[in-house]
Amino acid sequence: MKLSKLKKGFKADSEGISIEFREQLCLQSHDPLLASCLASHLGVKVYSPKEIGLSSEDCDILMNPGSGWSALTTKNKKGRDIIIHNVHHSPSRQESNIMHEVAHIICKHEFPDLEIKLGSPLPLRHYDETIEAEAEWLGGNLQITRAGLVCCLRDRMDINAIALHFNASEQMVNFRINVTGVKRQFSHLF
Ligand SMILES: [Zn+2]
Repeated sequence: MKLSKLKKGFKADSEGISIEFREQLCLQSHDPLLASCLASHLGVKVYSPKEIGLSSEDCDILMNPGSGWSALTTKNKKGRDIIIHNVHHSPSRQESNIMHEVAHIICKHEFPDLEIKLGSPLPLRHYDETIEAEAEWLGGNLQITRAGLVCCLRDRMDINAIALHFNASEQMVNFRINVTGVKRQFSHLF
């Protein structure tokens, strides 16, 4: 992710947004937030490729370990945002994949309409570095708030415990600890 692509203030806004949604869901700023809960709160339905009618063969091609496909956001016939995601990824990866797509929706990123035809492979997405950097940052922030990291580290939780707390991968926890400046704040622990 190219962090240099992020607009000034985007990181601070992301923490605010991540706490705001927790408040709307009666959660504390340090609480875990499930991607499916946030999607549901936003009225966004989340599907597997099979649920939108892809054949077993196409599902296998799309989600085989080498395909690199995680998830995408598109609209249903009513114009509502829907997320289709790779259900073969690990649970923690699915969380970050869905949060990434939810972040696209929160940021109101515009994508060209994808026409999903039953029985056809899902089209690949055009890649825009700025949009992807925003979704990557906000998605990670929605999953693990800075406030949450501070709370966990104050409680002397290790990386594995923090990852379990936030339904996140240890890789995501380490990433957030590094990029939020929390590592400097708790340098005595690292
Ligand atoms: Zn994306």
